[in-house]
Amino acid sequence: MFDDLNDLYQQVILDHSRSPRNFKKLDGANRVAHGHNPLCGDRITIYLHLDGDVISDISFEGSGCAISKASASVMTTALKGKTIPEAQKLFSQFRQLVTTENAESGELGKLAVFAGVHKFPARVKCAILAWHALVSALEGRPCAVTTEENTTEPKP
Ligand code: ZN
Repeated sequence: MFDDLNDLYQQVILDHSRSPRNFKKLDGANRVAHGHNPLCGDRITIYLHLDGDVISDISFEGSGCAISKASASVMTTALKGKTIPEAQKLFSQFRQLVTTENAESGELGKLAVFAGVHKFPARVKCAILAWHALVSALEGRPCAVTTEENTTEPKP
């Protein structure tokens, strides 16, 4: 049963890495941030259009491994129309999910497909890269470099 579940999760991840959603430069974006995971070579740029505190549109560009791309793709589909506090809540739930065993999937929906990532510590940084870039964009910081799960190092 759990193997089947993992297969399903893998299918979703493969699907999103092969044909990522919202994979484009966003015209009219009013927030942009870059994320770079030097350990794997993943690079992600997140574009946001904020209407007040609502993420009215979101897209990304970048190159990297299947996990980083799929994570960014699923993230954009999950966040469109969400408020900033809702996005921050999803980020903390997602971080729990990919760093701990038996984490509650809460309101994560499709984001829960990344639950298996916690078994591969090197992949956690890949899965969380887009989220670090998102937080940078929300905070108006242009660049996030992730070298550890919980660290962002904005450029001065
Ligand atoms: Zn990666």
